[in-house]
Amino acid sequence: MAYGFYFDSTRCTGCRTCEMACKDYKDLPAEIAFRRVFDYEGGSCALGADGTVASDVFMYHVSDACNHCENPKCFAACPTGAIEKDDDGIVFINQETCTGNGACVDACPYGVPILVKEEGKAKKCDMCRDRVAEGKQPICVEACPLRALEWGDLDELKAAHPDAVAGIAPLADPSETVPSLLINACPAAKEPGDTTGFVANEKEVTGVAAFE
Ligand code: SF4
Ligand code: SF4
Repeated sequence: MAYGFYFDSTRCTGCRTCEMACKDYKDLPAEIAFRRVFDYEGGSCALGADGTVASDVFMYHVSDACNHCENPKCFAACPTGAIEKDDDGIVFINQETCTGNGACVDACPYGVPILVKEEGKAKKCDMCRDRVAEGKQPICVEACPLRALEWGDLDELKAAHPDAVAGIAPLADPSETVPSLLINACPAAKEPGDTTGFVANEKEVTGVAAFE
């Protein structure tokens, strides 16, 4: 059995409540976010000869944390075995054995692990293992006011959302790590690897590496 996340991009308004709930629960400093919300946008407007304006402008949000991948590259890259995967498929960094060498940071195609140099440790979302052990949901899922996030047994999520996909831009190609992630793609959503759009809040989602 593996737990996973479901994200409904037709519901997400980009409010960041999931991100803030996680930061609060995990007591994270301003510079670090385990869940991040990407604003992906692109397209342009063109004035036609007849005076009408044609537009293919698009914009949507993607809320993403660690995807607790079936083939986690972070896990494979860690030279000290500090990254563990439990019986529920939850991938977590053992803070006791992490030496902060940063191999996971370089290996993860989702840019998830964060190296906190002051502590000499890598950190990331652990799917709220403590809450899960108490029969609760991850805090981000509970917090979302739009009910855009779901969490649970990945097989049950797949059965409930048969049309869901494993990735949309700007997330990585899911074939790289087989994420425990399902997404209801909004009509504007682009394929992973899309080059027609850009992350409009790149500083926000990559600025979390402020400890480097
Ligand atoms: S999203 Fe990245 S950090 Fe999380 S399990 Fe997958 S490879 Fe590892
Ligand atoms: S709390 Fe829900 S609606 Fe708000 S950004 Fe997160 S996933 Fe989107």
